[in-house]
Amino acid sequence: MIPAARSDLWQCRQCGAHHELATRSLEVGLVRLAVDGESGFRLGSDGIEAHIEPLLAPCACGGRLTRGQTPNETATEPSQPAFGVRPRFAAEALRPLAERGWAVLEASADRRLARLAALWRSRALVLLGREDELTREQQLELRLEGRLARLQADIERAREAGDDDAAQAAHARYIELGTTFVRRFVLSGDDRAGTAG
Ligand SMILES: [Zn+2]
Repeated sequence: MIPAARSDLWQCRQCGAHHELATRSLEVGLVRLAVDGESGFRLGSDGIEAHIEPLLAPCACGGRLTRGQTPNETATEPSQPAFGVRPRFAAEALRPLAERGWAVLEASADRRLARLAALWRSRALVLLGREDELTREQQLELRLEGRLARLQADIERAREAGDDDAAQAAHARYIELGTTFVRRFVLSGDDRAGTAG
């Protein structure tokens, strides 16, 4: 099992907005592989903040991002999910590290990393500007992923607006589509179906 980072909160130094870097686990993972190699690999930005920081695009307000401190336990209460903005990486700055990280991942003999490579391949190819290598199945996978991300945003917007009906409708659709996605793309390539992760 690769230790997962469920939340990887970064914060704008200027306006204080939260940015959820767990939404960029592929990019962060490739940077870790590029700078640290495959041994002891884990998800999330813990310990590689100094490499990540210069690669992140600034906040909408123009401020730079920094890894969020967890000032006290209350910040991590499950009843108060800190939905953050989805941060962006500066594509040109990220590219060389992403290429190096992907090469490490593809060359790895570690089964966990091979699974991760299979899971990430479609998005990694796009990230590396190698879209022409995508199979039809991978293109479909990316479209489904895009729809899931948009539904996730719909849910968060509806919740913020206090529109419970809309949030529930979007959530139901998310579960439905998410189930299809998992059956088709996560479990299909897994010889031990049901033990994803
Ligand atoms: Zn800001």
